[in-house]
Amino acid sequence: MSKKAVMHFINGAYTAGTSGKVFQNISPVDGSVICDVHEGLKPEVDAAVTAAQAALNGPWGKMTTDERVAILYKVADGINARFDEFLEAECRDTGKPKSLASHIDIPRGAANFKVFADVIKNTPTEAFTMPTPDGTGALNYAIRAPKGVIAVISPWNLPLLLMTWKVGPALACGNTVVVKPSEETPLTTSLLGEVMNEAGMPPGVYNVVNGFGPESAGAYLTQHPGVDAITFTGETSTGTAIMQAAAVGMRDISMELGGKNPAIVFADCDMDKAIEGVMRSVFVNCGQVCLGTERVYVERPIFDEFVSRLKTGAEGLKLGAPDDGANMGPLISKEHQGKVLGYYALAKKLGANVVTGGGVPDMGDALSGGAWVEPTIWTGLDDDSAIMREEIFGPCCHISPFDDEDEVIRRANDTVYGLASSIWTENLSRAHRVAGQIESGLTWVNSWFLRDLRTPFGGSKQSGIGREGGVHSLEFYTEMRNICVKL
Ligand code: NAD
Repeated sequence: MSKKAVMHFINGAYTAGTSGKVFQNISPVDGSVICDVHEGLKPEVDAAVTAAQAALNGPWGKMTTDERVAILYKVADGINARFDEFLEAECRDTGKPKSLASHIDIPRGAANFKVFADVIKNTPTEAFTMPTPDGTGALNYAIRAPKGVIAVISPWNLPLLLMTWKVGPALACGNTVVVKPSEETPLTTSLLGEVMNEAGMPPGVYNVVNGFGPESAGAYLTQHPGVDAITFTGETSTGTAIMQAAAVGMRDISMELGGKNPAIVFADCDMDKAIEGVMRSVFVNCGQVCLGTERVYVERPIFDEFVSRLKTGAEGLKLGAPDDGANMGPLISKEHQGKVLGYYALAKKLGANVVTGGGVPDMGDALSGGAWVEPTIWTGLDDDSAIMREEIFGPCCHISPFDDEDEVIRRANDTVYGLASSIWTENLSRAHRVAGQIESGLTWVNSWFLRDLRTPFGGSKQSGIGREGGVHSLEFYTEMRNICVKL
């Protein structure tokens, strides 16, 4: 891959913008510079929003659903046709293993366009007739209109997947978008501009402005009066700032935020499956998955065996660069490494039993500048310690024993977050009973991250607002308008 600077993509063309500012995109694998990135400020955001507004009133706004769907199919095919380029770019930015990104990030990035094209094609207009209370007959029907210009603010952990999870349904519903990818991972969002052009997407429908959050592209975009709605994935604290920006002008928001997700392992589980599932949920993507597990509750009779087997699993993980056949890469940045190592130090200070890990692995000279941390397991901390309360977003978990069902439900729910949970038991009644009482947007029974894109996705409590996925995405990306015809 070349070291060409990453530009903004506005009105169908790459541009350096006028701010003249650039920042460096750093590899988390070894600390080397991947490339420069142009930073967008007010003028770039203005240009992107203006292009998006013009496209709404231009050919895109006038297309039939079939025409839009055909282009979205071409976008999905275009990503797949350039699969290796997307894979290379995503792994350069994130350092994640190629085996992971080729299995999840890139195929799902493409699928997000097909799935939502199909949803929009197959969702009928809603119509109903009812005798009106005063006896006048009326036919009511509702049409779904695009919301307008959607600001998409995306994070770095699954850059292409999470960005297209929003851009796919937004475009399927006839909106136009301005995307602000994470400053850590601009490459695939930028590359998608080329695919959009190749697919015949009209200029201005998909726009990208690079930069940071506060006093940079992110804040200017969310404050821009030409933006009609904002969809955001990232930290809860950032979500709060964006909600405040959205309040001005009464813009709609969709928020996919942080989590502190529990796994509940009952003594009657299939132990092999539980170990395999919890291993993945804690360590995949170096623990940087919003749905990942950081609190594990294990029923006392199997506690020691579970801890010992998870330790063996963690110690068997192979850390390495994307091409090394590794199953765990680095964290996203040195800054994030500092945050995670801060929690590792805090756990020790609070008296945690460090079952495994807790430090920085020796990766050799070539990778010593990377953001590496050891996979880590603790036991012995109280439920109210910071390790059990705050989202760490690293390859680590705390395992606690429990004695009965009511107790573990109470402890699992004792958090400000409510994104995801998993329950491991072979007792079907217990599985349903417990699942119904866990306060999280998603609960898996005997699995984790098993996704059907038609299902509602989102968090409870401070983990989010709104649901996206399948027809649920229509609630956010369209506005329902009722039309009443007197008969
Ligand atoms: P982040 O909140 O730091 O950044 C996310 C995006 O917001 C970035 O593009 C950033 O530049 C931008 N941003 C920052 N401040 C802003 C501001 N004031 N105005 C506008 N934009 C601003 O999150 P991150 O560190 O990139 O991602 C990790 C977080 O995302 C974790 O908390 C994780 O749980 C969460 N996450 C949630 C989901 C979900 O579906 N619920 C999915 C993935 C990640």
